[in-house]
Amino acid sequence: MKYKITVDKVEKSKVDQLDFNNIPLGTTFTDHMFICDYDNGEWVDARVVPMGLIPTHPAAMALHYGQAIFEGMKAYKDTDGTPMLFRPEQNAKRLNESATRMGMPELPEEIFVEGLKKLISIDHNWIPPTEGSALYLRPFMYADEAFIGMRAATHYKFIIMASPAQALYSKRIKLWAEKQYIRAAHGGTGEAKAAGNYAAAVLPTELAKAKGYDQVLWLDAAEHKYIQEVGTMNIFFKINGEFITPNLDGSVLHGITRASVIDMLRSMNFKVTERKITIDEIKEASENGSLEEAFGTGTAVGIAYIQEIGLEDETIHVSDESPVGLEVNDTLNAIKTGQLKDKFGWMTKVDKE
Ligand SMILES: *Cc1c(COP(=O)(O)O)cnc(C)c1O
Repeated sequence: MKYKITVDKVEKSKVDQLDFNNIPLGTTFTDHMFICDYDNGEWVDARVVPMGLIPTHPAAMALHYGQAIFEGMKAYKDTDGTPMLFRPEQNAKRLNESATRMGMPELPEEIFVEGLKKLISIDHNWIPPTEGSALYLRPFMYADEAFIGMRAATHYKFIIMASPAQALYSKRIKLWAEKQYIRAAHGGTGEAKAAGNYAAAVLPTELAKAKGYDQVLWLDAAEHKYIQEVGTMNIFFKINGEFITPNLDGSVLHGITRASVIDMLRSMNFKVTERKITIDEIKEASENGSLEEAFGTGTAVGIAYIQEIGLEDETIHVSDESPVGLEVNDTLNAIKTGQLKDKFGWMTKVDKE
């Protein structure tokens, strides 16, 4: 490739200190990380270095003005132990869409994908061998120019770190339909995978948890009527045999799991419609018995089944009689781990070093 990646390896891997059957959530990182700097209008110095602290100037612009975006994806192992990535070019594309919205420079897709491959080729022993586990990958970009003043930064870092993750416990979740706070408004940053969107979601999520719910069900900003997403997942409902999911109207994140689930459901001959969905429509479908299932989709959990939705002082109950989402989840996982033929052409193999 055009961009040469230099490698500085640790003397001794820490992987033997990890118990793959008991991985602490979100606090374990592999031996290395990938870094690339944006300086003078170009991406330079692509490198794999030991995982460690990064010196940061207190005026680093991301800390003040919030130019920070990220991606989330996973590496799996094929049945013969070959590391595999799920649709990495989609994440590369989405990172650039987020970058554009946040006034940040695009990153050549080649750096994104080759950086991932290099890191995984070196740290592949960290991909958990246990069923349902995977190596979570967190590519992200932020403004690290030291400057006080409001303008687009001129210096950025793109980093990929990797963290082994066990299968998340897949209990059915309870949602709180949020009528006061919002996640995304038309013209806002809802479509970007931007750190600031998460910052704005922290308080409403904590309040929902204090009420006994797992996640927030986000409604539209203008009328608090139309369903957007759930927590950090896209959402699907099955009503009278048909799947519906909110259309991508500018306020909904373009989930790669969402797109893949739509393709898979259609290949199973289900009707899938992307359209506006009101919370009242879901309430009515629950009451008249036509709401057959509801689930969230995202890289972290795959498919998360929804048990109920709290709406002001009412509860919308969701049936668990239809297991189509579970079948889709099992099929997706089997494709990701090479147990099922990759008929959609979603998987990218990574050479081991
Ligand atoms: C990342 C994310 C999703 C899920 O996207 P995937 O590509 O499926 O992981 C959904 N909603 C929000 C707000 C997200 O940040």
